[in-house]
Amino acid sequence: MKLSVLHYVVIFIVVFSTIVFIVLFGRLPAFKGTIVGKAHILLWRTIPAKIVAIDKKITGGRFHSASSKWANYLVNDKNWAVAIFYGVILTISLALFFKDAWPRIHGPIHRLFIPLIALQPYFYFYLVAFTNPGVVTRKNVDKCLELFPYDDIIFYSDGSECRTCHFKKPARSKHCSVCKGCILKNDHHCAWVNNCIGYYNYRFFLMFLLSNLLVLTYGSYLTFTVLYNEYLDQYYPDGTASAPKYYWASYRNWILLIHSRSWTSVVTSICMIASLTSPLVIAFIAQHILYIHQGMTTNESEKWSEVQWVANNGMLDIYENREEDAEEGYNGSGSGSETDAGTVHPRLQALKNARPQMENRGRKVCIYAYDDGTFNRLPPPGMIKTRTVSGLEEVVNIYDRGGLFKNVREIWFPKIV
Ligand SMILES: [Zn+2]
Ligand SMILES: [Zn+2]
Repeated sequence: MKLSVLHYVVIFIVVFSTIVFIVLFGRLPAFKGTIVGKAHILLWRTIPAKIVAIDKKITGGRFHSASSKWANYLVNDKNWAVAIFYGVILTISLALFFKDAWPRIHGPIHRLFIPLIALQPYFYFYLVAFTNPGVVTRKNVDKCLELFPYDDIIFYSDGSECRTCHFKKPARSKHCSVCKGCILKNDHHCAWVNNCIGYYNYRFFLMFLLSNLLVLTYGSYLTFTVLYNEYLDQYYPDGTASAPKYYWASYRNWILLIHSRSWTSVVTSICMIASLTSPLVIAFIAQHILYIHQGMTTNESEKWSEVQWVANNGMLDIYENREEDAEEGYNGSGSGSETDAGTVHPRLQALKNARPQMENRGRKVCIYAYDDGTFNRLPPPGMIKTRTVSGLEEVVNIYDRGGLFKNVREIWFPKIV
């Protein structure tokens, strides 16, 4: 059988979407041990290692150093390469749609909605890409520090200052080496829009995803309808076909129809692109809905999965302030390995003096001890171990405002600093 251009388009989309899906989602715990998880390891580790090894033998590593320079440029510098790739694909698909499908779509509702919906991805792209995601500067750092409290589980109040920015990292922020700054409530750096997704543009990012989903599903529906009407016209011109059972009536007839005119192959290609890439966008949206429901960012979900592993292994300990315990009548009988409760570390004291709200009293701190006896951080002075956590369900995520809708409200109305 001779493959037509259309077949190549379909094969390309299927392979491309599958690879993107595996690369993006294969590392999720849900896929551990499954074929998706294994394919992720294969694509991400095994194959690159093999290529590097072969390259070393053949060219002495020249190919590897040249390509990693390119990859470095694409991944570690601000650039519009991926965004342009997306924009070109979207624009070409829409242009072909308006040329070949639009004249065959009737009905004022569709004619009104199509241009409106087609513009949405561009509009939200602009907002995500050009809204300041929440860059922490020397000027606003004090206000940023007040925005979210430290939970002392994934963000530490006595934690480090940013090595590049040289100020204290606000809770929930993360330094982005591409954007060259600490970003408030940093979700992730998105090469697709050449910007970080943070406190101020996460809402637009969600709308961007939804607008793409809308274009893809609505586009699939419209292009399919156009093709189906043509199918009926060609094979049942007398109007004998009426029921959806004719959808798949004849595979051969469909193939003939698709290849009968140039516009039918174009419309079929658009339909294929739209319907085959929409699961990818749905997966993305589902992942983010899950994060919002749990009150965490992509960055935090990685931190939480580490905490979960530690907790499941019985290595997560809660330290509490002893004075507070005494006031509440806590008998301190926990697993009680005491630290020198009397002395307060000079650095912590300095912080307390500078920021009165960072009072040590009553603060709960989670600390994990690794197998080799080292800690992820040292227990703060004046605090004692009260218990060992046996699972993540015993640990409160203070950034969760109480479910999906409350978290959406917080995302939609960020405070201005
Ligand atoms: Zn920084
Ligand atoms: Zn960034």
